[in-house]
Amino acid sequence: MVLTKTQSLTVCDVCVHISNEFPDARLKGRGRMTNHIDRQTTLADQVTLTGIGVHSGKPASITLLPADAGTGIVFQRTDKDDAAEIPALWNRVTQTSLQTVLGDPSENGMSTVEHLMAALAGMGIDNLIIEVDGPEMPIMDGSSAAFVDAIDQVGVKHLDRGRRYLKVKKPVRVDNGSAWCELKPYDGTRFEITIDFDTPLIGRQTFASDLTPQVFREELCRARTFGYVKDVEQLWKMGFALGSSLENSVAIAEDKVLNPEGTRWQDEFARHKALDAVGDLSLAGLPILGLYRSYKGGHKMNNAILAKLFEDKSAYEIVEAPAFREVGHAENAGLAAAAFGPDVS
Ligand SMILES: [Zn+2]
Repeated sequence: MVLTKTQSLTVCDVCVHISNEFPDARLKGRGRMTNHIDRQTTLADQVTLTGIGVHSGKPASITLLPADAGTGIVFQRTDKDDAAEIPALWNRVTQTSLQTVLGDPSENGMSTVEHLMAALAGMGIDNLIIEVDGPEMPIMDGSSAAFVDAIDQVGVKHLDRGRRYLKVKKPVRVDNGSAWCELKPYDGTRFEITIDFDTPLIGRQTFASDLTPQVFREELCRARTFGYVKDVEQLWKMGFALGSSLENSVAIAEDKVLNPEGTRWQDEFARHKALDAVGDLSLAGLPILGLYRSYKGGHKMNNAILAKLFEDKSAYEIVEAPAFREVGHAENAGLAAAAFGPDVS
């Protein structure tokens, strides 16, 4: 492969090559391409973000460091001597109330990992070491947007090792009262997330789309977390939401949004729940080839469905290369175009 000199900071060398070779692919399905190159990725350089923890209210700084193929996503506390790495995996999850927590943050764990994990999964980053100077991730604006900006700032690097996927072979389902979620076989990666609140402001909303970097960037990454003001005092008593503000949450009181700028979409709530699901499901450790559907789901059910999947070895397989790898890049571009048709999302 001969690379051209049109590399930019936001597009990896392979993508530049393909987009030059197949300009239609760039126009129709720019975001999809990254997923269709079956090589593992990391970031091209390190990048640091600072903010505050939404639950602790304390300053938090993270540095995303490029990592070798096969590393996966790993958190590393820098405020503790000799702290072991914390792999971003579903079986390390210890709390799912209002957030997703890995390990024990008072010892060596990490709180509120889901929005960064969503950005990494959404943008197709396989390997990364995340250094954090405390027990909680910075909340930024309550969405994944700042993390996507950070990825864009340094660019994506493809590594010389094939990407592996977790392919769902049999449906698995978790029920909890009227709430449920399920993973089903699907030729690609798709999320169908429905929330149902008994209030006119939110009501019943669904976000349904194949997941591609372009969809994540344009439809999900800016959707912010949200909460009811009436719940805040109780949360404070429990030690949650101490850093919560209109700068990092959509605040709802008496069925009205208090943020002066309003919502970013009318269905920002469902979009945020979909963002959370993308992050939580990425704790499978590999990108999932399958359809994830949830009704009134949340962090707890997102974690439960992975436990259920891994319980049954016949329900999944790990594949080195999905079937679409066998087709040429031009055909991939066709798939990409279809993924963005008017009937999607
Ligand atoms: Zn969230």
